[in-house]
Amino acid sequence: MKTSAVPLQAAGTAGSRIRLADGRVLIDGIASWWTACHGYNHPHIAEAVRRQLSVMPHVMFGGLVHEPALRLAERLAALLPGDLERVFFSDSGSVSVEVAIKMAMQYWLNRDVRTRHKLLAFRGGYHGDTLATMAVCDPEEGMHSLFAGVLPQHHVVPLPRCPEGAASFDRFLSQHAAGIAAILVEPLVQGAGGMVFHQPEVLRHLRAAADRHGLLLILDEVFTGFGRTGTMFACEQAGIVPDIVTLSKALTGGTLGLAATVARRHVFEAFWSDDPMHALMHGPTFMANPLACAAALASLDLFETEDRLGQVAAIERQLMHELEPCRALPGVRDVRVLGAIGVVQLDQPPADLNGLKHHLVERGVWVRPFRDIVYLTPSFTIAPDDLSQLTRAIHDVLAQSSVMLTKPP
Ligand SMILES: *Cc1c(COP(=O)(O)O)cnc(C)c1O
Repeated sequence: MKTSAVPLQAAGTAGSRIRLADGRVLIDGIASWWTACHGYNHPHIAEAVRRQLSVMPHVMFGGLVHEPALRLAERLAALLPGDLERVFFSDSGSVSVEVAIKMAMQYWLNRDVRTRHKLLAFRGGYHGDTLATMAVCDPEEGMHSLFAGVLPQHHVVPLPRCPEGAASFDRFLSQHAAGIAAILVEPLVQGAGGMVFHQPEVLRHLRAAADRHGLLLILDEVFTGFGRTGTMFACEQAGIVPDIVTLSKALTGGTLGLAATVARRHVFEAFWSDDPMHALMHGPTFMANPLACAAALASLDLFETEDRLGQVAAIERQLMHELEPCRALPGVRDVRVLGAIGVVQLDQPPADLNGLKHHLVERGVWVRPFRDIVYLTPSFTIAPDDLSQLTRAIHDVLAQSSVMLTKPP
């Protein structure tokens, strides 16, 4: 370890700012892993949580239901395209993907098809940190390579980004489809795997391929859901309807852990039976926590009453304009922007990543580079001046510290 990686102590948050225990205030460029889409401590969400806290903070969701969960399920179904209308609540993105995987596998078992149990996922993908989701992340990148030999084996192939890629993907599928339950992909942006974008066309190709072979298509919108790419859900830009979609991260506006796995009617019907063995067996203790549901409902209110998608479009324009000069810096490979996501990719991971982080904090900004990626995923309510401070800090720190970007021989 070159520079200390001791975590800083946070003492308070407000809007796009984090106050540290030592009194320093940082402008937040990543909105706590892109969850705090309305900024921190939004009064409308705080009030909704407080109200729910005084009525019913939690009650078991087995044999009982409650209004916040019913209303949230209805509103999510109304926002999502097509007949995505059956909502299963859990508490984290990883678990929502686990539930989607389980659903896809059991979908076939309930129909007495015992051969379709593998998943088809993509290089560069990230779907969570639990064991089942690690097995569908990129096998080499990221933090799970250590476990590569001991996880269940799925198919993890290159995303078909170009015509040749699409042709070899189609050939692969023709050979292996009979053993595959579902295709699993992050739409438009592979997030934590490296902030790599792809065209809507790729998703249309996957939808068509899944249809051709009768496979389920699962979109992991944990990163992209709730406006991050410019539309409420990324799948809208491709005009496709997945069979199952997973949501979390910005679902509660960054206040409480909550996730949803939403299925289309035909998926739900495979579980709707007199045989109790056909039910979906999953029941997290804090399933559909009322506080979290109240926060999510309040977050959806804000998408209706304030022009969030307009703000995302403005952030996109500003990021494009202000990050572009980074392209000319030595050691920078690429600059890319989609919605409220701005990425500067370096030629290689900086020799002293912690040093880079330290310089950014010195400039009064909270940005968390990883591997060869320096990225911004700010709250949608960030003031243009604050966003400018973030982009300027990234530019200046990368310009200053070009030595740091070169690995020592
Ligand atoms: C963050 C993320 C997850 C995992 O969510 P957790 O809440 O951290 O378990 C899964 N998929 C995607 C695309 C993510 O960005």
